[in-house]
Amino acid sequence: MEPRRLPLPPLGANCYLLPNGPQGLVIDPGGTPEAVLSACQRLGFQPAAILLTHGHFDHVGGVAGVLERWPELPVYCHPGDVGDDPGDFTWQKRPAWKPLEEGQTLALAGLELKILHTPGHSPGSCCFLLEDCLFTGDTLFRFSVGRSDLPGGDAGQLAASLTRLAALPGDYRVFPGHDGPTTLDQEREHNPYLQTLPV
Ligand SMILES: [Zn+2]
Ligand SMILES: [Zn+2]
Repeated sequence: MEPRRLPLPPLGANCYLLPNGPQGLVIDPGGTPEAVLSACQRLGFQPAAILLTHGHFDHVGGVAGVLERWPELPVYCHPGDVGDDPGDFTWQKRPAWKPLEEGQTLALAGLELKILHTPGHSPGSCCFLLEDCLFTGDTLFRFSVGRSDLPGGDAGQLAASLTRLAALPGDYRVFPGHDGPTTLDQEREHNPYLQTLPV
């Protein structure tokens, strides 16, 4: 499975498209839903669900626009990031919302994802494991990590979440919420923030 990265304005957050035959998944449709819709069309698939690594606007800004095209599409997000804030869509009122849970396995579009709740950047931040891919949202970046000083952030929780990611068995291709991809081994070795974690 080859994730397609689609950086979207206004902040260049990565939307990932996971085509699997005629179906597929969309992770973090930030701004400009038109770009997401036309990419799905170009890749020849219809999404079976939207998954959100967390609720910040640069990762969810295009959800409403994608739902206009496919109103029945389920939108998965951890309840920790579903509220009346920040620039959100009052998620609870949307029938499309489905809560993500720690340890959950989701079978969608013929793909199987494992959900890791990794709070710290935001209360509801999650990472997704899919085959040899790890989608880390704003928790882990290439040679960097997410901020924990935004509302709802928590430096201690972020450190615990990063420790957990670093302890995953084996290597993964890592697809972060901003900037380019990396691998978990590369981050274990070179990411300065992972070197200073409590063990
Ligand atoms: Zn964020
Ligand atoms: Zn972000």
